[in-house]
This record gives sequence, C-alpha cells and structure tokens, in this order.
Amino acid sequence: MNRTKDFALRERALKVIPNGMYGHQSVRILPASFPQFFGMAEGAYIWDVDGNRYLDYMCGYGPSLLGYKDERVEAAAREQAQIADTLTGPSPLMVELAETLVEMVDHADWAMFCKNGTDATTMAMTSARAQTGKRVVLVAKGAYHGAAPWCTPIPAGTLAEDRAHLRIYEYNDVASLEAAAAEAGDDLAAIFASPFRHDAFIDQEAPKRAYAQRARELCDEAGAMLIVDEVRAGFRLARGSSWTELGVQPDLSAWGKCFANGHPISALLGSDSCRDGAGSIYATGSFWLSAVPMAAAIETLRIIRESDYLEHMERLGARLREGLDIAAKKHGFALRQSGPVQMPQIMFADDPDFRVGYAWAEEMLARGFYMHPWHNMFLCAAMSEADIEETIVAADDAFAALADRLDEIPPHPIMTALAAATV
Ligand code: PMP
Repeated sequence: MNRTKDFALRERALKVIPNGMYGHQSVRILPASFPQFFGMAEGAYIWDVDGNRYLDYMCGYGPSLLGYKDERVEAAAREQAQIADTLTGPSPLMVELAETLVEMVDHADWAMFCKNGTDATTMAMTSARAQTGKRVVLVAKGAYHGAAPWCTPIPAGTLAEDRAHLRIYEYNDVASLEAAAAEAGDDLAAIFASPFRHDAFIDQEAPKRAYAQRARELCDEAGAMLIVDEVRAGFRLARGSSWTELGVQPDLSAWGKCFANGHPISALLGSDSCRDGAGSIYATGSFWLSAVPMAAAIETLRIIRESDYLEHMERLGARLREGLDIAAKKHGFALRQSGPVQMPQIMFADDPDFRVGYAWAEEMLARGFYMHPWHNMFLCAAMSEADIEETIVAADDAFAALADRLDEIPPHPIMTALAAATV
C-alpha cells in the first residue's frame, strides 16, 4: 500500500509536533502499516493521504454516527454557517438544543454545552463537588473519562494531588463499589460509571442491573451524585439515557463525540438534584457556544429520534459478529468478540501481547478495512449490508493469510510494553 505522502508528512511532523503526533491517534501504538494522516471521508469510508480507501470501523473514535458528511446534517450546518457561528454570546440554538436534549434524556432537566468529552466529564465532577460540598469521587478501574490531569491514563506532568480524592472500584462489582463508598464515608461527592465497561485491551462487559442500582442507592444514601459518562456510548445504545433500561437515572451525564455527527460539541446534562452545583461552577470556553455545531446537533438528534439508525447498526453488527466468528473458526482461530454488536471489541483468545490481533488488523487494513486491535470499534448508520458482507469475505481471506504466518508474527514493541503495564 502506497504510503509516500503519509511518510513525508510524518517526517515533517516530527520536526514541528512533539513525537510527530500525540494521544491515542498516534499510530505508534497501532500496527506498523497504519496510516497516520487522512485526506478525505464520506459515508462509512475514509481515505488516507495517499488515496487508499478503508471501510472505517473506528468512525473517528466515535463521532461519525450517521456516516461522514451526512447530507442532512451538513446542510443544517452550512445553513447556520451562512448566518453566524462563534459570537459574543450564544445564538438561540443553544436554548433549542438544551430543550431537545432535556426532552430526549429522561433524567435531564438542564444542559450545558462545551467542546470535548473531557470538558463535560470534568464539569460533571466539579458540579458534583460544588453541589455536595464533598470531595471524594469514585471511578471504575481502567475506565477512560478523558485527558485532564484528574483522569488521564498517562500521568506524565500531573501530580498525585490531582487525583488525591479519587477512589477506584471494580466495574460491575457491588462489593468493591460498596467498599469504596464506605471508605469515602460522608465525604462522597460522586460515583462515575460508563454505560457499559468499554475499557481498552479487555473484553467489554454489559452493566449488571444490581451494580447500576447499587450505585444509585449509595449516592442517595450519601447525598452524592451519580454520573454516567455517555461520551463514547451515548446514542449508540439508546435514543436517550443508556441506563434507563436498567431502571437507573443518574444525576449527571456527560455527552460528546456523536450527537452532532462529527461537529465539535459536547454536553453536560443534569437533573434538578445538581442544578445549583452546576450553576455555581465557572464554566466557559471561547468556542463552546458556537452555533454551527449546535445546528448540526439539532439535526443529528432529529435523525436519531426519527430514523431506524440504531436498529440498522444492531442488525449489521449482529451479522458481522456471526460472520467473523464463522470465518475465524474455519481457519483455526478463536475470537473474543464482546460489547454491544454496534460497538464491537474484537480480540483473539491466547494472544496476551496482542501480536495476533495486530497482525490481523494489518491484514484487514491491507484489504481496505480499518479495524482496531484493542479498542472498541464503532459501526455507523451509513454502513450497508454489502459493506458487512465484504468485511466478512475479507476477514476470511485475512484469517487464511494469518494462519500461514502465525509462527513468524513479531510482537509490537509498544504493545508489549503496554500489555505488561496493564495486566
Ligand atoms: N469519556 C469517554 C467514555 C470517552 O470515550 C472519551 C473519549 N474517548 C472521553 C470521555 C473524552 O472525550 P474527548 O476525547 O472528546 O475529550
């Protein structure tokens, strides 16, 4: 696969960007053949800078829900761009968008807008502390809530003090949640939970009803806030709050990534139980109230309400899971497929340092399918049945190629280090 432009850009980037790239979108943590720079996207597809096309199973790490450049959303954004975007104050769309989200998300009585998921999760934490006057926040071990000093998974440049009042519990484990809450005593400000366990490197887990309900009870007993971090899974599991089906309503929920189908906006939603706290924190950003992403969000949310985007993704996801399982078995591989089918995590049994997963992702990439070896993936509504069937055919071929060179697959140096660090 031609990488001429990609490599030229990487060389230039090394001179003007620390390490050439940073964060989880650095290809240093991906298989060697993965492109770093992309040139174009349309529907379910992305093109790298060298013009190679891939069916994108990462969807921008979540923002593409309806597909890239969805014409309905883009038309709404273009129309608003003709009127106004970033202003001295908010446009009327802010109120309309807040009303829309309050209508769609059961527990929400109010909304605040920001830009990235980290803004929303951080505001959730500060709002909870402001509301309760308490300090301790419980977070599940290994859960990702963003890149601020209190939650970054790589602590370089942060202080122990930044996390001084965080306590860790085991997702889905009621006893460990109770122990962490007991340790916090009357200083418990909040419990954070993601809609399901979608940590990197591990099999995904659905939330147990008993765990979600106990989290709610412990917050009620302590006068603390329950926070669901919907940034990654929001509107990919349900058309409203992901825990409604468990009978649990949080006080606060953080949203981002997909609700404007790729336009930059995130939101903190809350119930009246945390209105005062949220109203007391200082929350602002130069671009937080821009009108174009709000127009895109209102249109995306309309499509979420009115289309079968979710059922379509679930149908495709179920077919993909089934097809991949059959293809893998045929060539002697056992796949570990977990998570909701529309947000699949695909790893291999007996692959402790992920070398088989890395090699398979490379085989898939070479065939035009962008898949991730250790992060949950995303389906989008622009994918078609034909896309899924093509993926399964390519996977069959990729498994065959992999079986042929199984003994020669080298470990990926960064993966080996990370796997050791996360065990
Ligand atoms: N919470 C969760 C669950 C996430 O998946 C992410 C991003 N992957 C964040 C928070 C942070 O979002 P952002 O990268 O937009 O700051």
